[in-house]
Amino acid sequence: MTDNNGKSGIPASLATVLTHSGRASDEHFGFVNMPVFRGSTILFKSLDELEDYKAPYRYGRNDNPTTRALCDLISELEGAAGTIIAPSGLSAVSTALLAAVSAGDELLMTDSAYEPTRTFATEGLTRFGVTTRYYDPRIGAGIAELFTDKTKAIFVESPGSLTFEMQDLPAIAAAAHARGITVIVDNSWGTPLFHRPLEFGSDMVMHAATKMFVGHSDAMVGTVSANEKLWGRLKRTHRILGVAVSPDDSYLTLRGLRTLAVRMKHHDEAALAFASWLEGQPEVEEVYHPALPSHPDHALFKRDFSGAGSLFAFRLKKRSRDALAAMVNGFQLFGMGYSWGGYESLCIPFDPSNIRTAVAWDAPGQMFRVHVGLESLDDLKADMAAALTRYRAIA
Ligand SMILES: *Cc1c(COP(=O)(O)O)cnc(C)c1O
Repeated sequence: MTDNNGKSGIPASLATVLTHSGRASDEHFGFVNMPVFRGSTILFKSLDELEDYKAPYRYGRNDNPTTRALCDLISELEGAAGTIIAPSGLSAVSTALLAAVSAGDELLMTDSAYEPTRTFATEGLTRFGVTTRYYDPRIGAGIAELFTDKTKAIFVESPGSLTFEMQDLPAIAAAAHARGITVIVDNSWGTPLFHRPLEFGSDMVMHAATKMFVGHSDAMVGTVSANEKLWGRLKRTHRILGVAVSPDDSYLTLRGLRTLAVRMKHHDEAALAFASWLEGQPEVEEVYHPALPSHPDHALFKRDFSGAGSLFAFRLKKRSRDALAAMVNGFQLFGMGYSWGGYESLCIPFDPSNIRTAVAWDAPGQMFRVHVGLESLDDLKADMAAALTRYRAIA
């Protein structure tokens, strides 16, 4: 296990992996980038070839050189035995979960999970006889008390979507492994540049690649990587489900990844600077950013992460809908929309209170989620300062 020990930044070796892996230029006339291989049918020259099930490419749904280059690159980044690519982050979630559980099993899921992840469990898995119980994201080693003979998987997301609680992954993984329970982590926020869950004992790690990997708000992609123990199961589940991604989207993800290190360095610094600035604004009740010393789980963040993502939340006093509309409708730079991870900043109001089932969310006020993009920080501060003024001006 890597103990970051307060170390910050992006491991130099991963910055090199991002620029050099998954290119195979020698095989493609020296062109720097892996080409897009569009296609379904792959022709065999002989009966011997047709019957050779070890051939690397046999049918477009299962095997594609562009997609395989992306798999290999992500496996290197996460330190995984193998990686599958899915046509969205949610499809990566469902593929990982279907690889981990069977009828009669029980899944433990963090109460802070991305909402559609919860919906797949409660609406989807329930139909196939898998039950889900939600746990307090701050449970740590106490998760062992929730285990029953039926518990087969734990779904961790750290920090949590919207509310940004950190989880004690080493403690959860140790408790799980003592009982042979599979641990899956949604690592979309930290990316493997700042946090590698397999090194902390998780069995599978997934990404909404739509967000930071693609990085330009122009494609939907998901990835799941597994350790040696789970790789066979994950690969087979992906195969039988027929979860195929467009090679064009694999290409866009590879292209996005080439600049991930410089983007993450910027997001890490800019989002933290913006969060500390917000913390100093009189209107702001609380800022939820794990890299801020004021965050209740800051020690876990420092221990297990070497940098922070682009996304955090803050809370204002509750005012009228008119005040909220005046605030968000007048943004010049912050866009209001779902997703995140692009070059452009976003700010969206939300209410976590009716999503939670394990621990109630009762902080009074209006929550906002912010994605700090690549704009000038001073321009973003000016846009937000004007928004706070508009909010304050209306009861
Ligand atoms: C967006 C998101 C997903 C789902 O990704 P899509 O590509 O939108 O399906 C999963 N987990 C987290 C944390 C996300 O933010």
